[in-house]
Amino acid sequence: MKKNILIVPGDGIGQEVTAVGKKVLDRIAEKFGHEFIYDEALIGHVAIEATGSPLPDETLAKMKASDAVLFGAVGHPKYDNDPSAKVRPEQGLLKMRKELGLYANLRPIKLFDELLGASSIKPEILKGADILFFRELTGDIYFGEKGRKNDGDTAYDVAEYSRYEVERIARKAFDAARTRKKKLCSVDKANVIETSRLWREVVQKIALEYPDVEVEHQFVDATAMLLIKDPKRFDVVVTANLFGDILTDEASQIAGSMGMLASASVGDGTGVYEPIHGSAHDITGKGVANPLASILSAALLLDISFGLKAESDAVINAVDAVLKAGYRTRDIADATTAPENILGTDAMGAKVLEFL
Ligand code: NAD
Repeated sequence: MKKNILIVPGDGIGQEVTAVGKKVLDRIAEKFGHEFIYDEALIGHVAIEATGSPLPDETLAKMKASDAVLFGAVGHPKYDNDPSAKVRPEQGLLKMRKELGLYANLRPIKLFDELLGASSIKPEILKGADILFFRELTGDIYFGEKGRKNDGDTAYDVAEYSRYEVERIARKAFDAARTRKKKLCSVDKANVIETSRLWREVVQKIALEYPDVEVEHQFVDATAMLLIKDPKRFDVVVTANLFGDILTDEASQIAGSMGMLASASVGDGTGVYEPIHGSAHDITGKGVANPLASILSAALLLDISFGLKAESDAVINAVDAVLKAGYRTRDIADATTAPENILGTDAMGAKVLEFL
């Protein structure tokens, strides 16, 4: 198979981990006889420094022309401490999602058995948890009208959803549930919020097309509690942009570390694959960032955008084997990890390649 992959490392540790993810794609191409052609582009703080824009037109054009994007992270402390900055790295991220029509963010939350001890949740509660989140990505409070009134003393953000936006993500989630345990949980706040009432109405209607999928509706506050109390009760979860943003970070603790979780953003065009973590400037340049989330993002890319399931499984199995052999990055190491088995970013990448 011949495919064009755009590498967009972005900022901070995005640069370090994406380089490792690319090496894994290279090895897969070599091992399975594919031809992956790479190009690279700027986004975020590095793009602002170079061009003044967090998502230069050239980057967007390259994204649209490629078959898939392997993405790192955006962000810089300079902007985190200056809420009034007009041009910001995360504007690049939001614009990319809107321009590429990436309306569904998929986050598989699966704990590798070897990391049971790395989570703050009890192993007996966690073992066997396997959740696939679908977070809506292009609507809600992030994209509605926002502003200040009363001389700046009152602020507002408008949350908006159309029937069509809910329908298309609900269908994606129902389709995925069919390939798994046939259980879908739709999360909203329909007791108080009008967009949630529309959300629930639409999901109930789409559910009629999937009589083989068992559906439940949960309020977001109850879901936040149930994720920690009994994560195994969930299979596919579908929710709106803001609720999904919060719940998926909470659920990341099920997997033990932010450095382990991959995500896919898909829609009607090019898919974007990225770790859920940010640019982590506290560890940038130290060579300690965990590259496994980027490697697992590459596995999602192979599966979802290219339909290469065997290749994707080979990557996941190599990660599993490395963990089974006792190797860890600092963020997932515990008291039982032998000091010589605690690896930096590149050494962990090299181990995964070795097992591949
Ligand atoms: P973060 O995910 O960058 O870091 C949170 C904590 O997790 C830090 O202590 C960090 O060292 C650790 N961590 C994250 N990834 C790791 C990895 N691969 N290996 C080891 N440890 C890891 O979140 P933050 O600190 O809240 O934000 C930092 C910057 O990233 C901000 O500018 C924020 O806006 C941005 N951000 C970007 C994205 C994105 O690009 N999708 C997502 C979240 C945050």
